[in-house]
Amino acid sequence: MEIPFDNTYVSLPDRFYAPVSPAPVRDPHVLLFNQPLADELNLGEMAGKEKAAADLFGGNRVPQGAQPVAQVYAGHQFGSFVPRLGDGRALLLGEVLDKFGHHRDISLKGSGPTVYSRRGDGRSALGPVLREYIVSEAMHALGVPTTRSLAAVATGEPVYREAPLPGGVLTRVAASHIRVGTFEYFAARGDIEALQLLADYAIERHYPEAAESTEPYIALLDGVMRRQAELTAHWMSLGFIHGVMNTDNTAVSGETIDYGPCAFMDEYDVYQTFSSIDTQGRYAYGRQAAITLWNLENLAGCLAPLIDPDRQTAEHQLRAVLQGFPDYFNLRFLERMGSKLGFSAEDIPAAEGLVADFLQRLQTAGADFTTIFYRLQYALVSGTVRELQLPADQEPVFNRWFERWRDAIRDPDAAAARMQQANPACIPRNHVVEQALKAAVEHQDMRLCHQLLAAVRHPWTRPPDAFYYPPAPEER
Ligand code: AMP
Ligand code: MG
Ligand code: MG
Repeated sequence: MEIPFDNTYVSLPDRFYAPVSPAPVRDPHVLLFNQPLADELNLGEMAGKEKAAADLFGGNRVPQGAQPVAQVYAGHQFGSFVPRLGDGRALLLGEVLDKFGHHRDISLKGSGPTVYSRRGDGRSALGPVLREYIVSEAMHALGVPTTRSLAAVATGEPVYREAPLPGGVLTRVAASHIRVGTFEYFAARGDIEALQLLADYAIERHYPEAAESTEPYIALLDGVMRRQAELTAHWMSLGFIHGVMNTDNTAVSGETIDYGPCAFMDEYDVYQTFSSIDTQGRYAYGRQAAITLWNLENLAGCLAPLIDPDRQTAEHQLRAVLQGFPDYFNLRFLERMGSKLGFSAEDIPAAEGLVADFLQRLQTAGADFTTIFYRLQYALVSGTVRELQLPADQEPVFNRWFERWRDAIRDPDAAAARMQQANPACIPRNHVVEQALKAAVEHQDMRLCHQLLAAVRHPWTRPPDAFYYPPAPEER
């Protein structure tokens, strides 16, 4: 299995990265492999080459043409600036041209120490590797821009956290790994030359239309702003909580990146957080748009020196771009939420009140986000609120809203068709993901991981009951 590399990031100056070799592992085995993605990347067939693939994706063999580097970046973590983070447990093997003619990064996560590791061991436990694989593939099937997962490898050696845990390596594929934090790294050092090289590189790779603009860096910010607004609206329409929206986990490409303690909500609660370290609720479900804007403000600050030597003039222009964020986000959010209620983009002004009212009732009832939206299309057809199959105490919350909503739907068939494509029946529910990881990690039993992956790859089809229903109280 050879990889047809076409590397571009390493043509940037040496201060953008540090060369690194993956640290070999004892006994690598491929647990999950994404052949359709391998085909998209022109990598050929894995079948029959399991040993070679395990060596390659476990980090025991550096493939021909790879130029592995750890990328440097900074970042705001929970609001505090850290001037140097960088890939401490990951490396970029190189890039390939995919079937669509786009460069894609192939990286290993959990591949051993780098110069940026500081105290860490550069390793990943297998559980988080499998979690990222499953959740990112679910996000892709749902149509959300995201990094992809090519392979999950068990290393055959332990990593030491509170207790020894089986180790793993994830092969991640991304449009690029340029983060808001990459810009922050050079901006904090006053390295304007590097900032400009990075901005030009990001434009060429992700926003080629910005190069045509008279103000390419303003156009870059505008492009990132739109993609990030769209992305956050998309997440929220699916009940997704990223969990750790630090600026180093925000990709300039507009892909979802760095799946840590993330989750799809079961019961709707705008204040819900997922990361146990997020004690202030900074990254709660309902704060995600505000945080996206906060992260964009940091990117804008980095771009200022490229816009105008006079800081105030530059900031004035950049602020004008970000002033567009609230309206743009709201529009995207309402389009997505409106289509979940069966409304077309033209109907949005009429739908706006119904969306807001419905979300308020969801919060009051604490209803399960995914199933109530999924059941709405059936309730529309049958004309009865019973069809939402809500617990007895929740149903009355929706009675009056339900009648107003039905009256507002002009073409029920078209509405139902829209709803079917906006309301998934299957998301990777956290309690199911945990069961699947437990079976894999503690019992070397991959069956539930495979079943769950198969289900989340068809999110619009109702999955087996065990994947469909929200957790029982004892499963939380
Ligand atoms: P994350 O929270 O995974 O986004 O990582 C934040 C920073 O910590 C990044 O610079 C990571 O590379 C680094 N880091 C996370 N885990 C490890 C580890 N096991 N060893 C070394 N560095 C790590
Ligand atoms: Mg170089
Ligand atoms: Mg990260």
